[in-house]
Amino acid sequence: MQGKIHKTKEEWKRILSKEQYHVLREKGTEPPFTGSLLHNKNKGVYLCAACGNELFSSGHKFDSGTGWPSFFDVASSSSVNLKDDSSFGLTRREVFCRKCGSHLGHLFQDGPPPTGKRYCINSIALEFRKK
Ligand code: FE
Repeated sequence: MQGKIHKTKEEWKRILSKEQYHVLREKGTEPPFTGSLLHNKNKGVYLCAACGNELFSSGHKFDSGTGWPSFFDVASSSSVNLKDDSSFGLTRREVFCRKCGSHLGHLFQDGPPPTGKRYCINSIALEFRKK
């Protein structure tokens, strides 16, 4: 997997909580409607909880009703990597942090205009910084 930050399993385990490790490093999914950032409407940026890379902006956040923080665009071209995931026979793409390769969530094509994209992201994979 691509990424500029490389750490061993043990190193990740030391800096992440058990729940964060499961989502970010084992591609887990947090239960819907449990994330602390789900209803966050403050202005700011969303960073990767594992490495601090700037991933999403509050200006692109919307309420998808799915129970996970949702964005219709990324913060910049260096935010994420995508990989096809057809494990459930669905057209969805896996979303990774471009800097550290951690799993963040999935991308769907049923988002609002202008992009039509829905980045469905685990709250626990994000850290919010007010701007
Ligand atoms: Fe990262």
